[in-house]
Amino acid sequence: MKKVLILGSTGSIGLSTLDVLARNPDQFELWGITANSNSAQLLEQIRQYQPEYAVINDEVAALDISKKVKAEGIDTKVLTGAENLQELAGHDEVDIVMAAIVGAAGLLPTLKAVEAGKRVLLANKEALVCAGPLFMQAVSRSNALLMPVDSEHNAIFQCLPDGQYNSAQIEKILLTASGGPFRGKSFQELSGVTPEQACAHPNWNMGQKISVDSATMMNKGLELIEACWLFGVSSDQIDIVLHPQSVVHSMVQYRDGSVIAQMGNPDMRTPIAHALSWPERTSSGVDILDFARLKLDFEGIDYSSYPCLALALDAAKSMGAMPVVLNAANEIAVDAFLLRQISFLEIAKIVEKTLNSTNFSEPVSIDEVIALDSEARVIAQSLIDTNQQTKVSAKL
Ligand code: NDP
Repeated sequence: MKKVLILGSTGSIGLSTLDVLARNPDQFELWGITANSNSAQLLEQIRQYQPEYAVINDEVAALDISKKVKAEGIDTKVLTGAENLQELAGHDEVDIVMAAIVGAAGLLPTLKAVEAGKRVLLANKEALVCAGPLFMQAVSRSNALLMPVDSEHNAIFQCLPDGQYNSAQIEKILLTASGGPFRGKSFQELSGVTPEQACAHPNWNMGQKISVDSATMMNKGLELIEACWLFGVSSDQIDIVLHPQSVVHSMVQYRDGSVIAQMGNPDMRTPIAHALSWPERTSSGVDILDFARLKLDFEGIDYSSYPCLALALDAAKSMGAMPVVLNAANEIAVDAFLLRQISFLEIAKIVEKTLNSTNFSEPVSIDEVIALDSEARVIAQSLIDTNQQTKVSAKL
């Protein structure tokens, strides 16, 4: 029986993980759950699963939940604060940590789980984008088992013998991309899109941030950087292929012309179940593919149609400070878009201006990663504030 901690249990990946765990009660025990501010959902999860621990960032919410839980005779310990979150991630009793907090906020607890040598199921790609070399050094120091959950990276892992990239045998990684909800649309058509339209992904039901990232294709750029670190390759060993149906989750092309693909219905419970139980297989609840009705299309990608992806590719080529700045600026810009402070097309402009604003130095410690992340956020936010003031002045 493996004890599982879900960082970000109230999110889309968190909910899918709970579903897979509930289907396999003889193998996994839910030990801990965490949230940022969604107290109602966390409380429901405590009532339903009664884990050992629950953590919520919001202090007032933690007190309130704690009182309710005690009054109902439930033993779950309810905690708050970053220190408790990190302590739980490295707790001796935990076997498996699902890293499903969104954004760079997930970096420290995920790293704690790595340092404690856990089986870490990595959904939180931003952690690896921000701290790639330091993160991977921590993995090899601690002998943690890092299992990719992002469907593309999980697919690549499944297409590689022993999950290792062997450049003597492999020509390329082929990272598939659905193209998001706006595939084929012109820049003019995108100028007025709303957060609701950007979040309406044709194939996947995901959290808001990754949905917007999928619409701008920044998500594919972050995934490219994530793949570089996970599989120890450079960006020119990865090609991005448009595949609108999201059935082939990625492929590996070998030197002899063989291409190995991993396929399945677009449902995150498959990679979650795989990452939980590898090298065994366990049930996920996902419908099997119906090959009688399957239609698969592929096409090349035009980077000029996706400015966010082009920026991410540049960051992947230069690495150093660039992925941290790219990610931080993108998080700020996506938040501003969701708050309707900037337009969809301005996301890429804010990220580009932040990247070009000064000469950032490569961080060589986690403290420096965090400082750089904060610096880039301040710059991106000030660009957004100036942008808004300019729009107000133009109206007057
Ligand atoms: P959601 O927005 O649905 O969920 C995010 C989770 O993180 C919630 O539990 C949220 O709590 C918690 N959280 C947010 N901010 C903080 C914070 N500052 N401190 C602690 N907890 C926080 O995101 P997704 O589940 O969609 O994505 C999670 C990660 O997985 C992302 O990195 C994403 O890129 C990756 N991923 C997601 C996929 C998907 O299908 N959704 C596919 C592949 C990768 P609360 O609910 O209280 O806000």
